[in-house]
Amino acid sequence: MIPYGRQDISSSDLETLKQVLLSDFLTQGPQVPLFESNICKATDASFAVAGNSATSMLHLACLALGVKEGDLVWTSPITFVASANCARYCGADVDFIDVDAHTANLSIDALAMKLVAAEKAGRLPKVIIPVHMAGHSCDMQALSELVRPYGIKIIEDAAHAIGGRYQGRPIGCCEYSDICVFSFHPVKIITTGEGGVATTNDPALAKTIASLRSHGISKLPQELTRPEEGDWYYEQDTLGFNYRMTDLQAGLGNSQIQRLQEFVKRRNELVQRYHLFLSALDIEFIRPSEQCLSAYHLFIIRLPKELDRKLVFNAMRAAGIGVHVHYIPVYLQPYYTGLGFNQGHCPEAESYYASCLTLPLYPTLTDSEQDYVIETLAAVLDKVKRDR
Ligand SMILES: *Cc1c(COP(=O)(O)O)cnc(C)c1O
Repeated sequence: MIPYGRQDISSSDLETLKQVLLSDFLTQGPQVPLFESNICKATDASFAVAGNSATSMLHLACLALGVKEGDLVWTSPITFVASANCARYCGADVDFIDVDAHTANLSIDALAMKLVAAEKAGRLPKVIIPVHMAGHSCDMQALSELVRPYGIKIIEDAAHAIGGRYQGRPIGCCEYSDICVFSFHPVKIITTGEGGVATTNDPALAKTIASLRSHGISKLPQELTRPEEGDWYYEQDTLGFNYRMTDLQAGLGNSQIQRLQEFVKRRNELVQRYHLFLSALDIEFIRPSEQCLSAYHLFIIRLPKELDRKLVFNAMRAAGIGVHVHYIPVYLQPYYTGLGFNQGHCPEAESYYASCLTLPLYPTLTDSEQDYVIETLAAVLDKVKRDR
């Protein structure tokens, strides 16, 4: 099976892992701070705090911004469930902003309308979490200009997007956000096995996230509230978690990040080939806006409305091609319908979901494997159309 995405592990990744395994530290050693400084270099952010997943770091980002019971957080319905769950962990309510049909990112027009209605109703969100779907940046300038006047904080869910740019600057620089979160799950752009990082330019937010990541414990003399009792002494001042990244994970990340530009370049080359060879077919592509260089985590097409997506999906799978669907609108998950959400809440998201299909895209996908995907898709679409 040609999967829709997969990691690329090199011999230098293996060598780095071996060195870390044989070193003094499997966790809480030098690899994590080194990885954080590599992330700062790659993103232009002032601070980076690494953790055991993007989900954990989204949770801590919400906590650091003060999200709590009674608060409201907005995000996109076309995303992985973690973008919404992070607010629920804090006891907050979640609502969803409909998407733009061409980018599958949250729609700036829908956001503007929802803000007016929310202000009238007297219930504005505390935080908004835009998702850079497939690696394509949201229009962050427009988004921040809309929400900043209300004092709404911004967390970018950039799980798909490390190595991408917006207005020429790296995603993660936080020019238009408070915090940006990346994922290093194996299907994402670079991997640490499991892992995530939060970037920010705000020293207080970085400090809070770093403390919550490790039990809310500090050993730093300037942070102690009582006189130090000896060299063993530490204090826990808040209820934190063990969301730490290990040195093994960070070591892999330090090796992988050396190839970030190479990965993004190859993904973009493959996308250009898809565009070239699929342009004759009756399909649309989810595309980044002009202000954005996408890291292209996913290559997503939209099938014509009248075609049965499931027939196309099953025929591709039967031909050994691991197509996928990203994503089921989050609010249609049983957990969220249980909270009162219904079909029809975000019509564009639902029609996007009905027609989207993710084709294989990852740096080690060969041209000839991609040719097979292209030929198979053309043949399948032809057959499904004829059989109608
Ligand atoms: C993968 C993903 C996450 C969660 O990342 P983990 O590192 O697996 O916790 C969050 N948001 C989006 C959009 C994702 O694709």
